[in-house]
Amino acid sequence: MSLELTPDQTRLMMLQVADAIIVAEPLLSQADRDLGDGDHGLGMKRGMEAVKAQLAALTPASVEQVFVTTGTAMMSSMGGASGALFGTVFRAGGKALAGRAAFDAEGVALLLQAATEGVQKRGGAKVGDKTMVDALVPAAEKARSVASGSLLNSLTEVSAAAEAGKEASKAMIAQFGRAKTLGEACIGFPDAGAWSVTIMLSTMLDFVSKAS
Ligand code: ADP
Ligand code: MG
Repeated sequence: MSLELTPDQTRLMMLQVADAIIVAEPLLSQADRDLGDGDHGLGMKRGMEAVKAQLAALTPASVEQVFVTTGTAMMSSMGGASGALFGTVFRAGGKALAGRAAFDAEGVALLLQAATEGVQKRGGAKVGDKTMVDALVPAAEKARSVASGSLLNSLTEVSAAAEAGKEASKAMIAQFGRAKTLGEACIGFPDAGAWSVTIMLSTMLDFVSKAS
């Protein structure tokens, strides 16, 4: 069972994440149409195409570099609130891995903690506001509690925690973005950004389970 990924395996994992988000574009667009302005899927797709262009040519020196490159590509190609926020997920998350030779369960915990702190500092959302924070916070908490185990176990648990957070967002009334104006009409629909987080984590799990 694989306990950790090399920088190049981490790069290949993030290329798979990029493809999964691109494939999910219609689903993410519809999710944002139900609550917002409908641009989330196309914004994420544009971001992930930029990520693929950067990662395809990269010979990574570190896992930090893979994630920081991902965040920089998203931030500079997507624009808007979620470009800055997803850019922060990977740039802040990646920087928290400085000096680590491989991506392991401890790395998942460090990345998600820094990502969550960065997003909350930048965007001001807390749990219950119906944003990506509702997937990130439970994922980061779970990652910390399983940080001493295997990478496969970590991503199994973390992916499930994020999914539960995304599902919980269905019952929430949005406090940010256009969805805020909908009030109780939000209920029943999951947050699009939280859904993106779950797709990313479940694809990381898929990659690691096949590499193991
Ligand atoms: P925009 O809101 O500019 O249309 P997107 O549609 O791409 O951008 O992204 C919307 C997603 O961004 C939401 O579903 C939510 O998850 C996330 N989001 C928006 N504002 C915030 C915030 N302040 N903090 C955290 N996440 C946020
Ligand atoms: Mg939108």
